[in-house]
Amino acid sequence: VERLPDGRFVPQAYPKFDLLPIAGLWRPGGSTKRLQDRNPYNGAILVELQQCDRADLDLACEEAAKRQPGWAGALPADRAAVMSRAAQVMELRREEIVTWLVQESGSVRIKAELEWQWAHDVFLEAAALAHRVEGRLLPVDMPGKESQAHRKPVGVVGVIGPWNWPLHLCLRSVSPALVLGNAVVLKPSSDTPVTAGLLPARILEEAGLPAGLLSVLAGSGSEVGEPLVLHPAPRVISFTGSTAVGRHVARLAMESPLIKRLELELGGNTPFVVLADADVERAVDAAIFGKFLHQGQICMAVNRFIVDDAVYDEFLGRFLDRVRRLKYGDPDMADTLIGPLINESQLEKARRRVRETEQAGARLAVGGEPQGLVLPPHVFTGVTNAMPATRHEWFAPVAPILRVAGEEDALASANDTEYGLSGTVFTRDVERGRRFALRMQTGMAHVNDQPVNDLRFNPFGGEKNSGLGRFNGAWAIGAFTTDQWVSLQHEPRRYPF
Ligand code: NAP
Ligand code: MG
Repeated sequence: VERLPDGRFVPQAYPKFDLLPIAGLWRPGGSTKRLQDRNPYNGAILVELQQCDRADLDLACEEAAKRQPGWAGALPADRAAVMSRAAQVMELRREEIVTWLVQESGSVRIKAELEWQWAHDVFLEAAALAHRVEGRLLPVDMPGKESQAHRKPVGVVGVIGPWNWPLHLCLRSVSPALVLGNAVVLKPSSDTPVTAGLLPARILEEAGLPAGLLSVLAGSGSEVGEPLVLHPAPRVISFTGSTAVGRHVARLAMESPLIKRLELELGGNTPFVVLADADVERAVDAAIFGKFLHQGQICMAVNRFIVDDAVYDEFLGRFLDRVRRLKYGDPDMADTLIGPLINESQLEKARRRVRETEQAGARLAVGGEPQGLVLPPHVFTGVTNAMPATRHEWFAPVAPILRVAGEEDALASANDTEYGLSGTVFTRDVERGRRFALRMQTGMAHVNDQPVNDLRFNPFGGEKNSGLGRFNGAWAIGAFTTDQWVSLQHEPRRYPF
C-alpha cells in the first residue's frame, strides 16, 4: 500500500470509467452510440462508454429537482464539509488525477499539476462559500411593513464544459453551484468525458455528496447539450467553450419553455503588450509561458504579441531564441513543454490558419511539420491586425508578433478585437501600467505578468464576445443564487380604493 509523505494511505484507483452517474446510479447511458475516449498523443483508447439519450436527461433533471430542496436545507457546514473532504480526496489521489489529465487531455506534467492545483483551490474556495451567503433587511417607506432580500439557490444548474482545462473548468461551476445548495446536471466535452465529468463525480461521491445531486451525461453537443439547455429544469446554464457555440446556447436558453439565466465563459484573443520602457527579459520569460502552456489551448493564452518599435528587435531576438529551444513531443516526459493538440480537427484548423497567415504576407520565423497531433511552436512576424491571424483564437502553439509605435497605437491594437477576456502589458512604470490596464476592454488585465491567471478569490470572466458573468469568490454566489424580495405587512394597510 502506498503512503504519502505525511503518512496518509493512497486509496486504490477508481474503477474503470465506463459508467455514468445518472440520477443517483452508475450505469451505461441509454443511447446506442458509443463514445471512444482516446489519448491524443498515442491514440490509445482510454475508455469506451455508452452515451446518454433523452430519457437519461429527463431522469437526471427530475432527480436533481427532487433532491435539491433537501440539500439546500442541509446545514451550510454539512455542504461545506463535502467540499473540504473533496479537497482531501484530491490530495490522496493527486498522482491518479494528474496522470488522467496527461493521458486524456494531452497536458504536459507542468500543466496537469497546475490544473490539479487550481481544481483543488476551487474546492477550498467552495468550502468557504457556504457561510458567505447572506440576506438583507431593506428600508421601507410604508408604515408597518418589513422588507427582506433572501438569497436562494437557483435550483438545478446545467453545466456544459470544454476539454482544455477539463477538471478545473468543470469544477469551477459544479462545486460552487453545489455548495450553494443547487443540484447539477453536467455535460462534459466529448474529448474528455473522464477529467471533465466522471473523475470529479467520483471525487465528490467519495467526499460524501448525496447521490442524485450530480448527474454526468456524456454525449454530443446536439444530442445532450442542446436538450439540456432547452429542458425546463435548469434555471441557470453555465457554459464554458467557444463563442460560436455559446451564442447558440444563449439563443436556446431564451427559447426554452422556461427562459433561464446564463453564465458564459467564451473565447479570447489576448493581447500581450510590450511598451517601450518594458523590462524585455522579464517580458520574454512571461511570453513563453503565457503563449505555450498547454500548447496554447487556453482561452487566456496570448493570441497576439504587440511590441513597441523601441524594443521590438530585442524582444524578437530573445523570444526566438527561447522558442527554438522549447521541447515538444510526449507530454508524459518530464521535460516536454509542448504536447499534442486535442484532436485532428483542432490540428487541421491550426494548420489552415498557418497557411492563411503566410498567404496574407506574414513571415514564418519558426515553424515545422506536425508529428502526430504535436504541432511544433510557430512564430510569425510582420503581422498586422488586418490579417485573419489576429482576428480569431489560435488555440495552438502559434505566436503572431505585431509591431507598433507608441502607447496609443499599442492600446488601439490591443482593443481591436471582438473578444475581451484577458490582456497584459509590460512597462517599468507600474502607474503607467495601471492606466493602460484600465483602458483595456477586457475582464482581466495584468501588469508585468503573463495572462494565464486564475485565483480562486478574484473575479474571472470576459467582456464583449468573451462572455457574461464572473466566477470565483463572492462572484460565484451571484452566479448560482437568486434574490427573492419578501415583505411582511405587520399592520393593516389603507388602500386608496
Ligand atoms: P466548444 O466546441 O464550444 O465545446 C464546448 C462544449 O459545448 C462541449 O462540451 C461541447 O460538446 C458542447 N457543445 C458543442 N455543441 C453544442 C451545442 N450545439 N449545444 C450545446 N452544447 C454544445 O469549445 P471547446 O472546443 O470544447 O473549447 C474551446 C473553446 O472554449 C475556446 O474557444 C476557448 O477559448 C473556450 N474556453 C473559454 C474559457 C473561458 O473561461 N472563457 C475557458 C476554456 C475554454 P462536445 O464536446 O460533445 O462537442
Ligand atoms: Mg480524447
